[in-house]
Amino acid sequence: MKRTILLFSCIGLISLALVSFMPPSAPNRAILKTLVIDPGHGGSDPGARGTFSTEAAVSLEVATKLGKAIQKEFPDLKIIYTRTMDQMAGNKKTKLDDLHYRADLANESNGELFISIHCNSAGKKAGGWYDRVVTGKTPVKRVVGKGKKKKTVTSYKYSYGNVWHENIAHGTETYVWAMNKNDAKINSVSQIEYYGEIDSTAAVQPALPDPSDPAEKARMLIYAQHYFRKSLSLANLIEEEFSASGRLSRGVKQRNDAGIWVLQATGMPSVLVELGFISNKEEEEYLNSEKGQSEIVEDILSAFRSYKQKVDTKQIGTTP
Ligand SMILES: [Zn+2]
Repeated sequence: MKRTILLFSCIGLISLALVSFMPPSAPNRAILKTLVIDPGHGGSDPGARGTFSTEAAVSLEVATKLGKAIQKEFPDLKIIYTRTMDQMAGNKKTKLDDLHYRADLANESNGELFISIHCNSAGKKAGGWYDRVVTGKTPVKRVVGKGKKKKTVTSYKYSYGNVWHENIAHGTETYVWAMNKNDAKINSVSQIEYYGEIDSTAAVQPALPDPSDPAEKARMLIYAQHYFRKSLSLANLIEEEFSASGRLSRGVKQRNDAGIWVLQATGMPSVLVELGFISNKEEEEYLNSEKGQSEIVEDILSAFRSYKQKVDTKQIGTTP
C-alpha cells in the first residue's frame, strides 16, 4: 500500500515537472503574419536560360501560384510580392538596385519570412552541347636520317569529331545563408565568395556587411542565433517535400549569396529555393508544365504549413 502511494506520488511529481517544463504554446495566436514571396530576376535580367524558357518567367509563374495557394489556406496572412510583372523589382534599372529594393520592401513590410524562388542552371549550354573530341588515331611511319642513322619513326594522325553531352544536372536545392554562432565565421562573411551553381543571382555582389560595424555585427549574431534555425527548419521541410514527391533533392545548402544576404541581414528568416535545373531539357519541361508547377506549389505549401505551425506554437526559433 505504502509502495503504491509512493509510486503514484512519483508519477504525480514527474507529471507536474513535465508540465512545468513544457514549452509555452499559443495555438490560437498566429505569430507568422507577414510572408514575403520573391520571384527571382525579371525584366532585363532573365536569370538562367533554358532551351525555351527563362528562370525569371518560371519563377514568377510558380511564385504567383504559390502565393495564391498559401493565401487560400491562410486568408489572414499578409503576402507581399517583390514583383508581380516581368520587370526588375520596383522597376529598377540595375541588379543592385533591384536587390536592395527587394530587401527594403521586405523590411518595410515587417516580413516575418522571406521565400525567394529561383531556378538552377549548370553546364555549358541548356539542353546539352557538342564537345570536340579525338575519335581516331592513325599511325604514320616515315624514315628519317641517312646511312647508318637511318631509322623509321612513327607519329600519329588524329581525327576529331563532335560528341553530344546531354546537360544532365537536375534536382532541387534550398539555400540558407551560411552562418553560425561562430565569431570567426561571422568575421569571414565579407570575404567569402562562394556562389554555388551558375545561378545568375551570383553575378551581383552588393557590398557585404562589415562585421566591424557593431550594429551589423549585432544583426549577424541575431541571425546566427535566431533566424538561422528557422531558415534551416523551413529549408529542410521544403527539401523533404520535394523528395517525397519523387524529385531528386540535392539537399539544403548554405550559400553566401548577396540575394539572400540583404534580407537576413535586416531581420527575418529567409530561404532561396532552386525549383530545378532549367538547363536540363526534361526538368525545364517539368518546371513549365501545369503538373510540375502544381506539384512544386503543393510541396512548398506543405512545408510552409508545417513551418508556420511550428513557429506559431513556438517550437522553433525562440530566442535563447
Ligand atoms: Zn536565380
